[in-house]
Amino acid sequence: MTIAILGGGLTGLTLARLLHERGDDVVVLEAEERYGGLCRSVVSGGFTFDTGGSHIIFSRDAEVLAFMRWMIEGNEQRNTRNTKIFYKGIFVKYPFENGLSDLPPEDRFLCINEFVNAQIAFETGSAPTPENFRDWIYFTFGSGIAECYMVPYNEKIWKFPTDQMSTHWVEGRIPRPPVEDVLRSAIGIPTEGYTHQAVFSYPVSGGIEALVRAIASPVQDRIRTGFCVRSIRGEGGRFVISDGKRSVVADRVIATIPVQHLLPCLEDVPEHVRHACDSLVYNSLVSVAFEVKGTVPAISWLYVPDLKLGRANRISFPSTYSREAAPAGCSSVLAEITYQPGDEVSRMSDDEIVRETTGTLLAMGVVSQDRIIGARVMRQPFAYVVYDLGYQGNIRTVKDFCTARSIPLVGRFAQFEYLNMDGCIRSVLDFVKGYPVS
Ligand SMILES: Cc1cc2nc3c(=O)[nH]c(=O)nc-3n(C[C@H](O)[C@H](O)[C@H](O)COP(=O)(O)OP(=O)(O)OC[C@H]3O[C@@H](n4cnc5c(N)ncnc54)[C@H](O)[C@@H]3O)c2cc1C
Repeated sequence: MTIAILGGGLTGLTLARLLHERGDDVVVLEAEERYGGLCRSVVSGGFTFDTGGSHIIFSRDAEVLAFMRWMIEGNEQRNTRNTKIFYKGIFVKYPFENGLSDLPPEDRFLCINEFVNAQIAFETGSAPTPENFRDWIYFTFGSGIAECYMVPYNEKIWKFPTDQMSTHWVEGRIPRPPVEDVLRSAIGIPTEGYTHQAVFSYPVSGGIEALVRAIASPVQDRIRTGFCVRSIRGEGGRFVISDGKRSVVADRVIATIPVQHLLPCLEDVPEHVRHACDSLVYNSLVSVAFEVKGTVPAISWLYVPDLKLGRANRISFPSTYSREAAPAGCSSVLAEITYQPGDEVSRMSDDEIVRETTGTLLAMGVVSQDRIIGARVMRQPFAYVVYDLGYQGNIRTVKDFCTARSIPLVGRFAQFEYLNMDGCIRSVLDFVKGYPVS
């Protein structure tokens, strides 16, 4: 029995490893020449950058975190998070509600006053249950934090109106702050939010790709790169998978590729299923990797809600994650811009993107022009799932169809869920537990 795993990102490779370890015969079919998907890294001239945006290793899931740390054992650097939000020229501690004492006094008052009002409304039951993400932000944080940070930042990263996004995904993902912490932070007593990420790991060498390389090591010879799956046909109870030139025959198929790539490979997809799939919303990502002479601020990463500073929503400093991420005397910056297929960012040239993000860095004062010694643009077509209001119905239609075709979906863009690396590995662990041995 051969199991074909479509896609050689973190999910496909973890699946391959675990199924192989229990004795299954697996083959991973990966479109790109290099496996790793969003978890690839580029190492050049002594600089290491993650090509799918800045990645760190953290999790609330103890089993998964232990697995990831085990995979990079001997190559792990643990770091204490020092993350900020760039607000009105000030580096405000992250999460924003834990950094209120950094704000100008009027903004601090507005945020704390409105937070208290929102809390009273919540506790007395006088606030209606929020029906969209924007309302949830106001309901949870009050209008001060909502308007100073949460709404502008979220609209910048999602490129989608927050009042047209659903709320089902926010619990646990966007920290819901304890009232005492917000009050303490407002008067300057340090508090931490999102504590499961306060200490994070990163590979000393090789960038985040070192993690997927370690996971893939026992199944290296089972990975076929440069195989872009274009059709999947049923034949005599088996699957014939083709890239247009070559075919692989498998008894079972597991898809970790985006559903937008999977469905066109299948025969006789009903119109309503195609429509549901086409209606799923996602963001692409363009990142700019800057090589810098000298130092950068000792910040892990920086959120940039203000559109006037440019389109970059997040700036990270990879040379603070690993002592080997930049050569001696140098440091590094990675700027991320999300976009949607067909929008104005998707049409910008690499030069335009570099010019704009350089302008953002200069405006924030994190580097000066003369210290930038290199810039590289990297694009990822599938970066973030956007949970619009139609999401739950559309994904159910697509999943039901794939289940009926005996093609399980595992991973970020196959399940079409906002899964971080830990969520992908958890999905794989749970999937393998319930998957019959061949
Ligand atoms: C900007 C950004 C920052 C992130 N930061 C973090 C972080 O700090 N920590 C964290 O835990 N997670 C982070 N993540 C999430 C993490 O990247 C994902 O959870 C994980 O990489 C998803 O792995 P995957 O294998 O499911 O998907 P992918 O990595 O997308 O892999 C899918 C694979 O399928 C291949 N493929 C597509 N179509 C075909 C086809 N037709 N035929 C064959 N192959 C195909 C692709 O080439 C790709 O290799 C971040 C994500 C982004 C976008």
